Amino acid sequence: MTEECVALYVVPTPLGNLADLTRRAEEILRRVPWIAAEDTRHSAPLLKQLGSSARTLPAHRHNEQAAAARIVERLQAGESVALISDAGTPGISDPGARVVAAVRAAGGRVVPLPGPCAAVTALSASGLLDEHFLFYGFLPAKAGQRRQAIEELRAQSCALVFYEAPHRVLEAVADLAAVLGERTLIIARELTKLFESIHSGPLGAALDWLQADPNRQRGEFVLLVSGAPAGADSGEGERVLKLLLADGLPVKQAAKLAAAITGAAKNALYQHALALKS
Ligand code: SAM
Repeated sequence: MTEECVALYVVPTPLGNLADLTRRAEEILRRVPWIAAEDTRHSAPLLKQLGSSARTLPAHRHNEQAAAARIVERLQAGESVALISDAGTPGISDPGARVVAAVRAAGGRVVPLPGPCAAVTALSASGLLDEHFLFYGFLPAKAGQRRQAIEELRAQSCALVFYEAPHRVLEAVADLAAVLGERTLIIARELTKLFESIHSGPLGAALDWLQADPNRQRGEFVLLVSGAPAGADSGEGERVLKLLLADGLPVKQAAKLAAAITGAAKNALYQHALALKS
């Protein structure tokens, strides 16, 4: 794909370290006449630093459909548009998908550039051996919905990748531990920035680790959880557990019996029983 053609260029921008903008991204942002930005004020310093003289138009989650129509018009007028978000790759837990869909529906060209993405950056340093991963993005903010969402992921054998905000990281980690039981958790914080830290340890110990130092709760987070262990409870353990709990057995005893009957991991069932009870 030549950079000369009229297109919507999907351009990832740095997560924190400005040196992570690729040369190709730089070139596109300087060359296109239009830049559609999630927050034009936020992106202004970057564009100024690049010496971009492009006109900007806002494309955020509250106006994305209207922005998409404007972008299609620009392309039809023969003018290329670069799409950027505040940080990382547009369309990844960020606006962008509607713009891309509208351009494609109108027969326009979409040219994606590779570049910074917090999920992929964190995965590359996770050391997780799972062959596959599932990118979830943000869990629901409300406790009940969050637990339900995690519950639905419990049987996934692939690594799970979440984005989380600092004010919710403690609750999210507590819920992940309660529902998923014994796993490895990687807490990737402030990637590419001055206080970057990547902590790996047992999911069950992560809450204490975070609470031991308030600095560990600051900044931006990617949480990565190893997949459900092979041979883990395939549903039978859980089914028996629920029956025993419904029959009034205490959590510990129900988990022990369900594990003995089905061969599922006792501790995982115990954690699950606690989650069900709460
Ligand atoms: N589109 C972006 C991408 O490609 O990664 C993600 C945008 S989403 C609105 C913002 C979330 O990404 C943050 O809440 C955090 O979970 C994650 N994130 C962004 N920058 C990060 C960083 N430097 N370190 C860790 N996580 C980061």
